[in-house]
Amino acid sequence: MAEKDYYRILGVNKDASRDEIKKAYKNLAKKYHPDLNKGDNDSSEKFKEINEAAAVLGDDKKRQQYDRFGSTGEGFSGFEGFDSSSFGGFGFGDMDFGDIFESFFGGGRGRRSYKQKRRGADLRYELRITLEDAAKGVKKRIVIPRYETCDRCGGSGAESPSDVIACPDCNGTGYVRRTQRTPFGMFSTTANCPKCNGDGRIIKKLCSKCRGTGRVEKERRLEVAVPAGVETGSQLRIQNEGEAGEKGAPPGDLYIYITIEEHEIFERKGDDIYIEVPISFVQAVFGDEIEVPTLSGKVKMSIPSGTQTNTVFRLKGKGIMGLRSYTAGDQMVRVVIKTPKKLSKRQKEILMEFAKETKEEISTKGFFSKLRNALDKI
Ligand SMILES: [Zn+2]
Ligand SMILES: [Zn+2]
Repeated sequence: MAEKDYYRILGVNKDASRDEIKKAYKNLAKKYHPDLNKGDNDSSEKFKEINEAAAVLGDDKKRQQYDRFGSTGEGFSGFEGFDSSSFGGFGFGDMDFGDIFESFFGGGRGRRSYKQKRRGADLRYELRITLEDAAKGVKKRIVIPRYETCDRCGGSGAESPSDVIACPDCNGTGYVRRTQRTPFGMFSTTANCPKCNGDGRIIKKLCSKCRGTGRVEKERRLEVAVPAGVETGSQLRIQNEGEAGEKGAPPGDLYIYITIEEHEIFERKGDDIYIEVPISFVQAVFGDEIEVPTLSGKVKMSIPSGTQTNTVFRLKGKGIMGLRSYTAGDQMVRVVIKTPKKLSKRQKEILMEFAKETKEEISTKGFFSKLRNALDKI
């Protein structure tokens, strides 16, 4: 396999320092970056080449091997991770080649981990509130048991900061490269380092409080502002109030699921409220002004004389202002005539009088005469 002169590619001397190599790489990478040389195949080839060179010369171990043997023992396939496409996700403007150099080629400093730390879990909390609270909005104090970042180790999982060391097996990169010789050439694969599990670091002494997990179980007290108009099934998302992430990773979110408790007298349908109000036979006959409870207090409502049972009256705007509504719903009041069960002697006498007075009407054209006629035909 023909080996390339990586020093010449980067334009540095054989005894160039790490910083000189880094600087040379940075300048060349900027010059030949594919974003600045669209469609120029020569540039893209050159870009691949300088990345390849930097991958070797930027890594102390590989550089030593290269210096000694003129080869790293890896075929070109070992650099598949460094072709121009791996830079595609960065905009050129906010790209810092120095950082990429450090993180991709490591140099044994273990600055960045290969493995992404896992974000904390989202939590779900069921909150039951009354219909009144749903209509007006309410602040609720809640207590949630959850994992929080350990305050003893700050989430690192180590007893002290000096107990965190770069993994010796992978030089803190979190990955190991295995090279295999085959009849078709050299192949190399990259895998998570088994010693540190891809973390890039190991802990010599675990934190005594969290036993190395970086998290402790705690009860979190929170005040939740429930907006007016929520309904059963409404969800509130509270960012970053879920469980702490693994070893300092960002926390998850907290989701509050609202359930509205059933109300003794009100029934909600969308933004409207339904209620049944009993009135007396006399109120129905003569009409009256009655007090009706609503979610915003009692209101007066007039019943016209001659009102039939089950008549529904509408109180405009006395329903709920929904979360996505521009006007409040209405309250529907169904009046039901209550038939008295216990009567005094005097009340009975009056009603008998009333019956006598209306008997003719009942027996000739009323409901009972129709019923009697119907029964006669059977
Ligand atoms: Zn390792
Ligand atoms: Zn701890």
